[in-house]
Amino acid sequence: MIKTILVNIPSYIEDSNYRYKMPKPQLKIEGRGNGIKTNIMNLHEIAKALKCHDQYPLKYLGFEFGSQTSYKFKNDNDVTCIINGAFQDDQIRKQLDKFIEKYILCQKCRYPEMYMKIKGGKIIYGQCDSCGHVSDLDNAHRLASYILKNPPDGNQSIISGSKEVQIIHNEGQNGNKEDKQKKKKILADEVGLESELLESFLIQLRDTYSRLVVNEKIDNDIADMMLTQDIKKFNLDKNLKDRVCYLIFQSMFDELPTKGLQRNYELLTNYFNDLDPQLSQCHMMLNIIYLMKKRNIDDVYFCTVLKGFYDYSYIEEQYLLKWYDNQEEWKKEANQDFLYNEQLDNHYRQLSQPMINWMKSQTGQEEEYYEEEAEAEQPIEQQ
Ligand SMILES: [Zn+2]
Repeated sequence: MIKTILVNIPSYIEDSNYRYKMPKPQLKIEGRGNGIKTNIMNLHEIAKALKCHDQYPLKYLGFEFGSQTSYKFKNDNDVTCIINGAFQDDQIRKQLDKFIEKYILCQKCRYPEMYMKIKGGKIIYGQCDSCGHVSDLDNAHRLASYILKNPPDGNQSIISGSKEVQIIHNEGQNGNKEDKQKKKKILADEVGLESELLESFLIQLRDTYSRLVVNEKIDNDIADMMLTQDIKKFNLDKNLKDRVCYLIFQSMFDELPTKGLQRNYELLTNYFNDLDPQLSQCHMMLNIIYLMKKRNIDDVYFCTVLKGFYDYSYIEEQYLLKWYDNQEEWKKEANQDFLYNEQLDNHYRQLSQPMINWMKSQTGQEEEYYEEEAEAEQPIEQQ
């Protein structure tokens, strides 16, 4: 597998904590003589990071180099983007940055958040998702006529994805019941765990959060607001909220989950409270287990992780005891959640024993303490 090196958007920004990243172009020179060409192996991934159609940067490069391009999309893992001629890294990078400046960067806040739109079928303009600024994009470049003929609505980015979701919602309100159900099913399939859409969303969230965690200069509130916006953009059906919570959860914690607990408290509770209250702790529990598994966190840390979540009241004592002691009852509840896996659940239940024992011993101590207090008071009353 090719290791992905990330660079900033655009690549000349030097801040290593910068939130917006794209894969560094990977080039492969193919053929010889007149038939020599440059295969940009990961242009599809780059375009995803730029939230635009693959063909926009590809055509742009073609126009700038005065070369023919060819594009083949078989599936998400099999996309070919080729420019005739042999080009070097710095040539491609420089032109790609120019494309970004013209069509992706907001002229006001300089974030790569321009939503490309077309008015009257003639003018390409953008609206910034970060600051709301609206301005025309480069309509004089030769790429502009290509964009007008191939407008951004048909692309496969996150942006068009969320639009699709909204369209489904709107139509659903007017359509008949059968239609609605059919559409809901399509939607649910789209937002399956393997979904490319969700994965990109997750990456975006993670970027937001790594920026929050790493770059202390940025206020927590602002980062929270940004994340909330991100999620709102992804306007999901109610029954898919647990998936969104899953994404939020998985993106908030890095390799050491206990680190991010305090910082993420408000956001996490906000989103989990949005779920059915009965199910939110259940979902939280399943997320913790899944996080352990997914991040390959060593089993020996499970109690520490669990205690962290307990200390911050993400999961209450009663709930933990229910999970630990009433396995069958809990299973009925958890079974409905897409994250439930019995084997995994049992594995971590066994590992949690020291933590549960500790918790039970704490409860005992508290009771004893109150009893002693009560006993101590009694003689005084008798006197
Ligand atoms: Zn802006």
